[in-house]
Amino acid sequence: MGYKIVIALGGNALGSSPEEQRAAVKKTAKSLVKLVASGNKIIVGHGNGPQVGMINLAMETGHKVNSSIPLMPFPECGAMSQGYIGYHLQNAIRHEFKEIGRDVPVVTVITQVLVDKNDEAFKNPTKPIGSFYTEEEAKKIAEETGYDFKEDAGRGYRRVVASPMPVDIIEKESLRDLYAARNVIIACGGGGIPVVEEDGEYIGVAAVIDKDFSCEKMAEVMDADVLVILTAVDKVAINFGKPNEEWLDEMGIEDCEKYIDEGHFAPGSMLPKVKAAMSFVKSKEGRKALITSLECADDAIAGKNGTWIK
Ligand code: ADP
Ligand code: MG
Repeated sequence: MGYKIVIALGGNALGSSPEEQRAAVKKTAKSLVKLVASGNKIIVGHGNGPQVGMINLAMETGHKVNSSIPLMPFPECGAMSQGYIGYHLQNAIRHEFKEIGRDVPVVTVITQVLVDKNDEAFKNPTKPIGSFYTEEEAKKIAEETGYDFKEDAGRGYRRVVASPMPVDIIEKESLRDLYAARNVIIACGGGGIPVVEEDGEYIGVAAVIDKDFSCEKMAEVMDADVLVILTAVDKVAINFGKPNEEWLDEMGIEDCEKYIDEGHFAPGSMLPKVKAAMSFVKSKEGRKALITSLECADDAIAGKNGTWIK
């Protein structure tokens, strides 16, 4: 036994302030190392919503109170968040390996993910980022910068960016070499830094790629056996949160399609996970996906928990 696994870590695996994140990551590292100890090989991706939000807000605030601090573009904030989260993860994972008497190299790769500049998502930016503004402030910034703003649930105006689909992982050769050299790799943090190709150059764009979709792309380019999406629930449910809620052990592609049509998966949370799982399963014969929690990961890989998509 033993799979080659790409793992997508959700927000609950990380926390946001440095102290909170350090504590959360310690627990996360224990679960990840357990997966390796039971014979699997892992490549780790993760989200960055709260972290990139914090960095972006800090840089905006810094610029406001001291103009010598430059305004930090959003792709750069994403790169900072990959470094910040990757540092904690690689530190904690290496430590957990030491605890079980193994010396495994662990490395974070700052990852750029190619997106299509003609992706329809760019016509309708929906992902809110950064601080809240009044309508007048938002209008003024929009005129100065060309940013898009939208009203956010009665709380004020926020900048919105597009959420395009990942096309390719720019650093894939490096990831494959590092994997072949037995590294545990942390990559595609926050869904990766979105870049578009222009005259043979990669240019960062202010956008957010869903980390579940980027991890799916990474699982394809790394030729993984299983895409494991770790989140806050042990299994996927139909009629989630209702009296007739039903937790699922397994879904076929047709089941997924039917449940999506029936509206069982919330957009922005469970829906992208199920869609990512489906894409991976459909991408090549024999590929499987698993949606479960960090706590259940080891049991679920052994077929004793979680929702398998086959
Ligand atoms: P992550 O940070 O891991 O991406 P999300 O909050 O985006 O986490 O998505 C996971 C959440 O999706 C679960 O905690 C759960 O509250 C919610 N959810 C929505 N629909 C379902 C469903 N059908 N079955 C299980 N969980 C669901
Ligand atoms: Mg999510």
